[in-house]
Amino acid sequence: MDPAPDLSILDDLETELRDVEHALHRLDDRSYGLCEVCGDPISESRLEASPAARLCRDDHSA
Ligand SMILES: [Zn+2]
Repeated sequence: MDPAPDLSILDDLETELRDVEHALHRLDDRSYGLCEVCGDPISESRLEASPAARLCRDDHSA
């Protein structure tokens, strides 16, 4: 018999999916890539590592 699936993986996926959907909305209203706290552009390297990032490095670690 197979072990029960680890449902926490699904939670992670759901969170990720919401983040991506959020990012897509932000693409629509042209706020994609801007920090949601200070409005500064999020660095390209940060967006590459985490395309759905909502905050700049400063505000993310604040
Ligand atoms: Zn910021």
